[in-house]
Amino acid sequence: MIINKRSVKSILSKSNLPIAGFTVNPYVGCSHACKYCYATFMKRFTGHKEEWGTFLDVKYWPKIKNPSKYDGETIIIGSVTDAYNQYEKEYERTRYFLEEMSESNANLIITTKSDLVLRDLDLISKFPDPLISFSINTLDEEFKNDMDDAPSIKRRLKALKKIHKLGIRTTCFISPIFPAITDSIEIIKEVTDFTDYIWLENLNLRANYKKTIMDYVKNNYPEFLGFYEDIYLNKDIGFWKDLDEKINQFCQKNGYLYVIDKEPFLNNPMEKPIIINYFYHEKIRQSSKNKK
Ligand code: SF4
Repeated sequence: MIINKRSVKSILSKSNLPIAGFTVNPYVGCSHACKYCYATFMKRFTGHKEEWGTFLDVKYWPKIKNPSKYDGETIIIGSVTDAYNQYEKEYERTRYFLEEMSESNANLIITTKSDLVLRDLDLISKFPDPLISFSINTLDEEFKNDMDDAPSIKRRLKALKKIHKLGIRTTCFISPIFPAITDSIEIIKEVTDFTDYIWLENLNLRANYKKTIMDYVKNNYPEFLGFYEDIYLNKDIGFWKDLDEKINQFCQKNGYLYVIDKEPFLNNPMEKPIIINYFYHEKIRQSSKNKK
């Protein structure tokens, strides 16, 4: 891993995400090295030529003045790359940020694939109503190992359970859903007792990793290649519509609230998680762009 320490002017960036006012990404690059990583665009902005997953910039920032000015603001930690990549164990930049902000009343959202977040629960629990989201897109460790170098699914599930038991809100982010490989309903059943929300997001194949994923499917799941060609070459959304319907039926039968493209943190008065589908996000964004 090529590590660079970098000074930055500020660690908090204003966000244009509808769900948060600010984002925090203490690292550029990510040692989880997911084959489908959307964040590889960072290479263009940061001048990195190295392969994704082989470099990490560790950020150092000036002391945050007056943390309480962020009271009531929502801050997402790890909006671009995982703030709990394995090097956080050594550099503790995410922990440092939490320490700096721990007297504030900011609303904290942390998205991760790592149980290293457990280390910081002492600080996280000082925030008013934090939420921790774990990405889990398979229960098959072999497929997971083919796709990323992050902690095992077993460890993620154990962490999710522990966090939920402590009364901290949790989300299981089933993303990205690989057509015919990710079994979303099995994952829902697995996490239902220890998550407040379940978000569903389909796999988008962006240009920089489209070939990698298509080759992977061809070599490892040739029986599903037809689905992938229909979806990603012929732009057929029939697969997602069918899956949406299947999940809808499952939810109706089992008493889950299932909604499409709603805000991620709907008030959840129920014992079961709210399931939110973001399959059509890209399409909705596209059609609103076309209308402008
Ligand atoms: S965990 Fe997220 S940022 Fe890190 S490699 Fe995977 S998709 Fe990219």
